[in-house]
This record gives sequence, structure tokens and C-alpha cells, in this order.
Amino acid sequence: MVKLAEWRGKEVFRKYGVPLPRGHVARSAEEAESLVRAGTVPLPCVVKAQVLAGGRGKGGAVRFANTPEEARAAAGAILGLEFKGEKVREVLLEEKLAIGQELYLSIALDRALRLPVLIVSAQGGVEIESVDDAQIVRVPIHPFPGLAAYEQRRAVEALGLSGGPAKALPSLLAALWKAFNVEDAELLEINPLAVVGEGLVALDAKVIIEDDAGFRHPEYAEIRDDRTPLEEIAREKEIAFVQLDGNIGVIANGAGLTMATLDVLQELGGRPGVFLDLGGTDDPKKVTEAFLLMAQAAPKVVFLNIFGGVTRCDTVATGLVEAMKQVPEGQRFPIVARIRGNNEAEGTAILRAAGITSVPQLKDSAQAAVTISQGGRP
Ligand code: GDP
Ligand code: MN
Repeated sequence: MVKLAEWRGKEVFRKYGVPLPRGHVARSAEEAESLVRAGTVPLPCVVKAQVLAGGRGKGGAVRFANTPEEARAAAGAILGLEFKGEKVREVLLEEKLAIGQELYLSIALDRALRLPVLIVSAQGGVEIESVDDAQIVRVPIHPFPGLAAYEQRRAVEALGLSGGPAKALPSLLAALWKAFNVEDAELLEINPLAVVGEGLVALDAKVIIEDDAGFRHPEYAEIRDDRTPLEEIAREKEIAFVQLDGNIGVIANGAGLTMATLDVLQELGGRPGVFLDLGGTDDPKKVTEAFLLMAQAAPKVVFLNIFGGVTRCDTVATGLVEAMKQVPEGQRFPIVARIRGNNEAEGTAILRAAGITSVPQLKDSAQAAVTISQGGRP
């Protein structure tokens, strides 16, 4: 998942003809001021923190300026912020428009429907999660023909548009739909989509590009701002590794078993932190590498849940024991293991020799991990 900062998302929009305010990104207060003085950004203007988290408007990360000096001050203040844990390194300066109405519009991939869906609401400018479901209209989009004329009219109606803005919507939808396909997007969100005079303008942009289509888009390869440093290393080593905010490290193999393991821990009251999917490997070195990466995330306890298939139990056990030798004394953590399947007896024996007991029942082993994570003894 490649999440683009607003200004990058807007560059994508611009390429397809989605109407936008005039603006420019800046990386210092001085640069912000000179963009305004040069007329690149008209006054009055909006100065917006370029972070991936939402809710900037309410959080003081969107400010207004009437003079070049004010633009400089606003940019300086925002660039000094840490917004929801993310340091602000860039601000977007844009002309401030007189907004008639704030609407919501997005095209998203609906995994349950297995279709892209057009989502619209007349209640824009607030997070869509907080909008009453009755105020949201979802129109599944047939992937080949795209939106039919009557479906577009349904969107116009749902948004309560008439006159100029109503006439402007179909070409905006066509531009977004094209962008969604050509850019291999998972989500294109405009919130708010503003009625400005007789037209529509995208005031905000949230763009997420599908990772698996990365090979078709080398232009996005540089953008990795949403990964943690450890996730970055994991990616380079081709290890599937995700950091959540819990304290139980999870190592499993295969996406299905990994997700099910997270669910079980959660259900037992535990908080899964880092999880790592070993996938299919017969190389103990790869397991060691993955395990050392896990150690760097400093989990309170690690729950190893392996079903041996292509990845045999003894391969995992060997890799794990080797990794434990390499983890420095002060950074060790308890391990709860459950290894079943191919070469289970060999794997269990290797673990036992290293002082780790494999608990065969999922519920028992998961419960042990949760208990340890909460400071108890299993
Ligand atoms: P978010 O809160 O992180 O989603 O940031 P947005 O880009 O959506 O901006 C938050 C709010 O700032 C919007 O809902 C608008 O109310 C306001 N805003 C942004 N740009 C403009 C503008 O050009 N003119 C006016 N009047 N308000 C703006
Ligand atoms: Mn927004």
C-alpha cells in the first residue's frame, strides 16, 4: 500500500484533469513566503501540513494566511509540528477558495463486493467514518464500462447538486475513474469536494496505490513514508513484516494462518504487535534473518505459530535457535511456540534442546503468549 501525501495525490489528480486549487508544496517558511511573493500561490491562501494522517483541519495543521508574512509564519509553525506522531516536513500552500458546500466523493476498492465502488455523501469535510450511513450512497462500478449515465445522475442527486456543479460532476467522475484504473489505485478520495461558484474543486486528496501493481509504477517506488524503518528493512529483504502497536510479536507462515493467529490473540485479550509471515521457505538463514528483525522490534513475548508444509518445522526451529544465539543477552524475550505439520517431531526436538516447549493446541499456546504479554506466568 503506497499512501501519497496530499500534494502528490493532487499531482495525480491534475494529470487526469480533476479541478484543483492553484498551489505549490514548500519545505521551509522562507520558501512558503517566496512562493506567495512570486504569485505562484495567490492570496489569501491555505497552508496545510503534508502528513498522512487525517483530521488536520481540526488538529491545527491547516491554517490561513492573508499576507506573505502570514504565510511564512503559518508555514513555520506547521513545519515545527509533530502531527499524530509524524514530523511535518512539507506544507502545501494553496489559494483559499470561497466554499459554497463541502461534499464527499471517493472511488474505493470494495473487497467484499470485489468491485470498485463510487462513494458519495453530501456531508463532506468530516471523516466519512463519522457520517451517518443513511447519508452515504454507494454505487458499485462495473469494471469494464465504468459508470453508466444513470449512475452518474444518481451521484448528482445524492450530492444534491444542480446547475453548474451538477454539469461539472460527470467529467470529474470520468477523470477519477481513469486515474483509478491507470494508476492502479485502491482509493481515490476527495474530502471535501467543494462547490465553488458554478464549479467543483477537489480541496483535499487521499490517494492509495495498490502495492502489487508497483512493478507497473516505478514512479511510486521512492514513496515509502508510511513504512516504519524496520518495515523498510524487511521490505528490502523481502520479508512480510508489519508493525502494529501491541506487544506480542507473531511469527507465522502464510497470510491465512498469520491473520488467524492475530485474531485468536486479540480474542484472548492480547495485543499483537509486530507480525511476520515467513511464507514458504526451506532456508533456515531466512528464518534467522526474520527472527532477528523481530528482535529489533523489542516484543514482550513472541508467539511462533507454524504449520509445516513447504516450510518444514525443523527448518523454522533451526533458524530460530540460531537467531536466539545472536540476540544479545539483554534483549532476549520469551518464546511460545506451536509448530505442527511437516517434520514436527524433528522441529520439536530442536526447540526442546534449546529450552523451548512446543504447545500443540492453538488456544493453549495463544493463551500462554497473552498471559506473558500481560506480565503473568503461564
Ligand atoms: P483534513 O482535515 O486533514 O482532511 O484536511 P482538509 O484538506 O480536508 O482541510 C480541512 C478543512 O479546511 C476543510 O474541510 C475546509 O473546511 C478547510 N479548507 C481547506 N481548504 C480551504 C479553502 O480553500 N477555503 C476554505 N474556506 N476552507 C478550506
Ligand atoms: Mn480532508
